[in-house]
Amino acid sequence: MAVRRIRQLGDPILRVRCEKVLDHKSAATRLVADDLRDTLRTARKRYRMGRALAAPQIGAPVRIVFVEVDKQRWTMVNPEITDVGPDDFVVWDDCFCFPNLLVRVTRAYQATLNYTDLKGKPHTAQLEGPMAELLQHEIDHLDGILAVDRATGLDPFSFRSEWEKLHDPAERYGQPNPRELP
Ligand SMILES: [Zn+2]
Repeated sequence: MAVRRIRQLGDPILRVRCEKVLDHKSAATRLVADDLRDTLRTARKRYRMGRALAAPQIGAPVRIVFVEVDKQRWTMVNPEITDVGPDDFVVWDDCFCFPNLLVRVTRAYQATLNYTDLKGKPHTAQLEGPMAELLQHEIDHLDGILAVDRATGLDPFSFRSEWEKLHDPAERYGQPNPRELP
C-alpha cells in the first residue's frame, strides 16, 4: 500500500488507452486498487475535493477505478458505460490532474454502468446526475481522455478561485435537458 504521485496534465501516461484487467484477483490488481484508495484519501485531505481516482492517474495504465462517496466505496474493474439516457447536463468539472482548474463539460445525465469487482463478480448500476458524470469522467481517463478535451461553450475554463468568487457551489451542476440532436 502506498500513496502515489498523481500525474499532472501534460504527463503522457494520462493519454494512454489502458489495458483491460484479465486477472481480477492478481496481486498486481490488488496493489493498484489499494494504492488508488490510499492516494485518493490523501489527495482529498490536501485539496478538499474528489470522489474517485482512475489507475492512469497514479501511473498504472490498467482499467481500474476507485470511487468513494459518502463513506461508500467501490473498486471497479473494467468499468463501461453501456447506455445513456435522453438527457444531458452541464457540469463545471474538476480533476486531480489539474486541481486548480474548472472546465465546463456536457455529460449524459443518466448512464448504465457495468463493472466487475475484485472477486470477478459482475455488477450493473443505473446512475444519475453527479454519479453519472463522475463515472463518465473516470472511464474517459481509462481511454486517455481528459475533461479539458470535452470543454464546451464560450469561455469553458476558469481557475477554481476565480469561479468561486462568482458562483455558488451548487451551480457546478446544471439541470437535465433533452440532448440536442446533431
Ligand atoms: Zn480526473
